[in-house]
Amino acid sequence: MTRSIQILFTACLLILQSLPIQAADKGTVLITGANRGIGLALAEQFTAAGYQVIGTARKPEKATELAKLGARLEALDVTDTDSVAQLSNRLEGIAIDILINNAGISGHNTKEFASLDIEQLDWVFQVNSFGPLRVTQALLPQLALGSKKQIINISSMMGSMELNTWGGYLGYRGSKSALNSFNTTLSVEYGKKGYTFVVMHPGYVQTDMNNGNGEITPTTSAEGIFKVVSGLKPADNGAFYDHSGKTMPW
Ligand code: NDP
Repeated sequence: MTRSIQILFTACLLILQSLPIQAADKGTVLITGANRGIGLALAEQFTAAGYQVIGTARKPEKATELAKLGARLEALDVTDTDSVAQLSNRLEGIAIDILINNAGISGHNTKEFASLDIEQLDWVFQVNSFGPLRVTQALLPQLALGSKKQIINISSMMGSMELNTWGGYLGYRGSKSALNSFNTTLSVEYGKKGYTFVVMHPGYVQTDMNNGNGEITPTTSAEGIFKVVSGLKPADNGAFYDHSGKTMPW
């Protein structure tokens, strides 16, 4: 009896040892602005699914919820070229399978165009449009080492010109339209090299950006985005999807 238990135990141990280590198998995802909102919810989704998550924050020492997930924390301000270069240096030789450019702001806005301070719009473009470009360019060596080569740019339906029927938010809309355009350009250039560039609208999500207003929670948004990203194929290169996988109009 004792001998059969011993054999059974050894067999179970051998089976367990032969199972792949989940985290190593799924790959590595880097998420910008992962300390709160949709970025944090995405970090939760990818961690739960067994990915190695590299989450960036402007103040990593304050990113306690991200740290609790066991993610690798990295400092990053997407508007600062030195900060972006330093991130790339610290990640030298590390394969990144999926890059999610999530960090974003709503930026300067006024009720009336007449009172808009146009000079202030520079910043929203620095964060929402040039930020993803800077990060993607700096991490090209790490993406080249990755097996998936997927770049997910979190855009917005507000960047869709076809859906713009009520105006306003001139800077935010323009910055996301620019991001959509950059995504298309890079999808053309890098699609031939096996990369997949996608822009996504995460839904109207209850985060700080909306003062907690919104139709869905960050978790629901991130679950949807995770599902869409998990199902991406090379033919999706250049696409614009929402969190439910619906194709968005440009
Ligand atoms: P939050 O305001 O909750 O979070 C924004 C994140 O971006 C924070 O982590 C913030 O970091 C980071 N961030 C801001 N500026 C910079 C910067 N210069 N460098 C690096 N990180 C920065 O917003 P959401 O989670 O709602 O938004 C995430 C993305 O989803 C954005 O791109 C947004 O435009 C998009 N989106 C959101 C919608 C919504 O309904 N919420 C709808 C459509 C699109 P810190 O904490 O340091 O400020």
